Amino acid sequence: MAATGIEIAPGVVDLTPPQNGYLKGGYVHSFLLDTPDGVILIDTLFDADAQVILDALAARSKTPADVKHILLTHGHRAHLGGLAKLKELSRAPVYAHEWEADIIAGERKQQGVSLRPMKGLAVLPILIGGTVFGPLSEHKPCPVDHLITQGARIGPLQVLHTPGHTPGHLAFYWHERRALFTGDAFVTWPLICPGWPNTMLNKKQTWESLRRLSELDVQAIGVGHGAAITQNGSQVLRELSARGYV
Ligand SMILES: [Zn+2]
Ligand SMILES: [Zn+2]
Repeated sequence: MAATGIEIAPGVVDLTPPQNGYLKGGYVHSFLLDTPDGVILIDTLFDADAQVILDALAARSKTPADVKHILLTHGHRAHLGGLAKLKELSRAPVYAHEWEADIIAGERKQQGVSLRPMKGLAVLPILIGGTVFGPLSEHKPCPVDHLITQGARIGPLQVLHTPGHTPGHLAFYWHERRALFTGDAFVTWPLICPGWPNTMLNKKQTWESLRRLSELDVQAIGVGHGAAITQNGSQVLRELSARGYV
């Protein structure tokens, strides 16, 4: 993927680090949305310099000041790397669920993950590294401006509370573009699943959240880790939901 991203739906640019993506949050992704309410950023990738996101803005003749809202799916390190930098440059309000907000603000550590071998083994070295070297890889704290949950609306996006991977996990749905942003409630790397098994805090909630997402009318799905789904998103979610626990 080019450093400046690919369009997965009209006005939706999918971003991931162009090199060493494995070591930068396990092929983590973030999304730039060009909406009637200005540019909305969903998650902030791994690197603290936010350079991939800044380059993507510049490539579209936009500046950080054009970013009007920064939405966070949840408080895991891989998704928070560029947050403080982007907040400083854009001064855009930051939104997250209240359960995640104090982690994002640096007031509480993120909950531990299992280091047992499970499906999606490629994830394990990243989690072990993050646990052992945790203090070295913590994100730069950034306060959350607005606490949001199910039913909130930011520009054209509907906010969906999708607990399971973490208790305050959010997904975002752009109905008019049939585009869904799942964070880690649904990922495609290293396997298609609702969150990495090692990081799934509540299995029952995870699968209930996936079932609810599968009821939406969706074409494109921007996921937290791995390549986006660009066609028949609803069908992919329904099939996974019907298959059940991984
Ligand atoms: Zn996560
Ligand atoms: Zn993640």
